[in-house]
Amino acid sequence: MVFAALQTELDERATAGLLRTRRTLESPQSPRIIVDGKPYLAFCSNDYLGLANEDGIAGALQKGAEQWGVGAGAAHLVSGHFAAHEQLEWELAKFVHKPAALLFSTGYMANLGVVQALVGRGDTVFADKLNHASLNDAMLLSRADVQRYRHNDMAQLESQMQCATSGRKLIITDAVFSMDGDIAALPELLALCESYDAWLLVDDAHGFGVLGEQGSGSLAHSDLDSPRIIYMATLGKAAGVFGAFVAAEQVVIDTLVNHARSYVYTTATPPALSVALSESLRLIKAGDDRRAHLQALIAQLRSGLSDLPWSLMPSATAIQPLLIGDNKQALALSEGLRARGIWVAAIRPPTVPEGTARLRITLSAAHTAADVSALIGALHELAR
Ligand SMILES: *Cc1c(COP(=O)(O)O)cnc(C)c1O
Repeated sequence: MVFAALQTELDERATAGLLRTRRTLESPQSPRIIVDGKPYLAFCSNDYLGLANEDGIAGALQKGAEQWGVGAGAAHLVSGHFAAHEQLEWELAKFVHKPAALLFSTGYMANLGVVQALVGRGDTVFADKLNHASLNDAMLLSRADVQRYRHNDMAQLESQMQCATSGRKLIITDAVFSMDGDIAALPELLALCESYDAWLLVDDAHGFGVLGEQGSGSLAHSDLDSPRIIYMATLGKAAGVFGAFVAAEQVVIDTLVNHARSYVYTTATPPALSVALSESLRLIKAGDDRRAHLQALIAQLRSGLSDLPWSLMPSATAIQPLLIGDNKQALALSEGLRARGIWVAAIRPPTVPEGTARLRITLSAAHTAADVSALIGALHELAR
């Protein structure tokens, strides 16, 4: 029976310390969560600004539901495109200094849609080896030739670009690498795009709301502005709600509306979400205090953990991975923290390369300095 084969595969994963399971939250997302009846201090959400459980945004969602109801009822191109979507797209484009923006249901779908709409057979996609899984899936689905370069290795990327002599060229990259927390060399990537007449798709899932002036993201952070850049950011992380958008030249957006299959063939998100997101955007822009507090927590964590047997990876962002190496040791540490009432996820292969299992510590502006001290103290206890 096929079931026995499936069970054997799962058992093998479990033996290797790689079985994935879910835990159920019984409270809203925040640094203090209830899981299976027990309270935890958590360092594993991507809710970097603490907006996921913000009263003003929850209120906007309620108002949105009163005005627009619940479901969009159709895809955007049929009868599911509402004034609330249109308004949010306009606000997002303006915020990230692009001529136009387009909402997608999720970041995963946005990446699939952009890459598949812009390149195909005979074209070439160049991708950092540490890119997010959704970018990897997007390039495979596009049927373009794929060239993966070593993390941040601009010399290897350039030699790959020199070899691609025909067709369109598209570089795709995380702006802030999701499992490492470091920032891509965006100015160098853009320079290569200019030399080799290529496009650059920047996935700013972890920079939007956090980096740059008013939290407008990684392009502002690196002071970059070029029509070659196609900007994608998610709205379920720092923005605290759900969804994603792509911002680019109008002709690129029109192309996506016509050709991105993950846009065309799916129901639009509930318009009330767009109302909630407009309020979230307002709080992001006004969120310099939240961002300054987050930066202070990052500095506190890095100095507090500098003398552990494991080292923090070089990251200046809210993603602060502690490199452990061995899968089972990473899991044991995560469990040791949990026994002390602290929740940090252990990230293991295949999400990260073999031999680089880690604790992915993420900080949020909703944490206090005392929360970070508690984590530092618990990790020192476990190191003894
Ligand atoms: C989370 C994430 C995505 C996917 O976004 P969703 O809206 O969660 O589907 C894409 N890219 C990166 C780098 C991410 O971290």
